[in-house]
Amino acid sequence: MTSILIIYTGGTIGMKLDPDTGSLKPFNFEQVEQEVPELKKFAYAIDTISFTPIDSSDIQPHSWLQMVDIITEQYDKYDGFVVLHGTDTMAYTASALSFMLENLSKPVVLTGSQLPIGMIRTDGKENLISAIEIAASKHSDGSACVPEVCIFFENELLRGNRTSKYNAEHFRAFRSDNFPPLAQAGIHIAYNEDVILRPTDKPLQRHTYLDTNVAVLRIFPGMSQAYVNSVLNIQGLRGVVLETYGSGNAPSLPWFLDALKNAINRGIAIMNVSQCHTGTVDMSAYEVGRKLMQIGVISGYDSTTETALAKLMFLLGHYSSVEDVKKGLSMSLRGEISI
Ligand code: ASP
Repeated sequence: MTSILIIYTGGTIGMKLDPDTGSLKPFNFEQVEQEVPELKKFAYAIDTISFTPIDSSDIQPHSWLQMVDIITEQYDKYDGFVVLHGTDTMAYTASALSFMLENLSKPVVLTGSQLPIGMIRTDGKENLISAIEIAASKHSDGSACVPEVCIFFENELLRGNRTSKYNAEHFRAFRSDNFPPLAQAGIHIAYNEDVILRPTDKPLQRHTYLDTNVAVLRIFPGMSQAYVNSVLNIQGLRGVVLETYGSGNAPSLPWFLDALKNAINRGIAIMNVSQCHTGTVDMSAYEVGRKLMQIGVISGYDSTTETALAKLMFLLGHYSSVEDVKKGLSMSLRGEISI
C-alpha cells in the first residue's frame, strides 16, 4: 500500500481566529484532520508528524533541520512526503530543503493555504488533497513521478527552489517566473515530464550544515555609503546576495565598487541576483554590469533571492574556501538556475 507522511509545521491552513485579538493563530493538526474527512477516502496509509505549529514567519534554519531529520529518518518507510507550511516563508523552506536533501528519489511536496481549513471557501482542502495525490504518484515502473522538493498551490506544482510568494490575496499565491510548472492539476494531474528532475541511483544524502553569516543588499537610487558599508562590514559576514537592477546592473559610483571590491578581497562571496522576477543576470550586457564582473561579483543567473540565500548558506556551510563556494554558485545543484 502506498504510504504518505504529512509533516505539519503550521501556517494559515491550520489557524483559527483568536476572538480576543481578531488575529489568526496556529492550532493543532487534529483540527485540520477533522475538516478533511476526505483523508480517510484515500487508498493510502497516511501518517502525520506534527511540529508545535507556528506561523511560518517564525521559521528558522533549525526548523529546516528538523524537517530534513524527519524525512531522512522516515525515508524508507514512506513513498512520499507532504509538508504543511505557512505561505510566507514557504519558498525559503522549499529552497533550503532542496539543497539539504541530495539525490531525492521521492517527492517532498510543500503546501498550505491562504484561508484556514475551517473556513467554507478555504483553498486548504484542495491543496492538501492534490499534494497527497502528487506525493503518491508513481510511474508504471514504481518510480516517483516527481522526485523533487516542490510546492503545490492552487492548481500548479512548481519546483520549490524556483518559486516566490507573490500574492498575499489571491489563491494563486506562488509563481515560478523563470521555470515552467512541473505539473498542472485539472481533471487529471498532467506532469510535465520534460522538466522534472530524474532520480539518481545514489542514496539520499542529508546535508545539515548551513552558515547564516549572509546578508541581502538591495540597491536603490540614492542609497548611502553608510548603508552599503554597514551591510558589507557585518562581523563574520561570508556571503552577500546583491539585488541588482535589470540584467545585473548597479551604479558605477567609485565608492560603491570599491566597497564591493574590498569585501571580495576580504573573502566575502557576492552573488548577483536581479530585482526583476523574470529573466537572468548577464553582467556582460552593459558597461555598468561588466564592472561588477571585473571586480569578482558572481552571477546568480536567474535565481530567486530565496534560493540564492539558501544556496549561499548551504555552500558556506560546506566549504571553508571561498573559491569552492564560488564554484558551487556557478553550477546548477538542484535545478535552481538555468545555465
Ligand atoms: N502568516 C502565515 C504563515 O506563513 C500565512 C500563510 O500561511 O498563508 O504562516
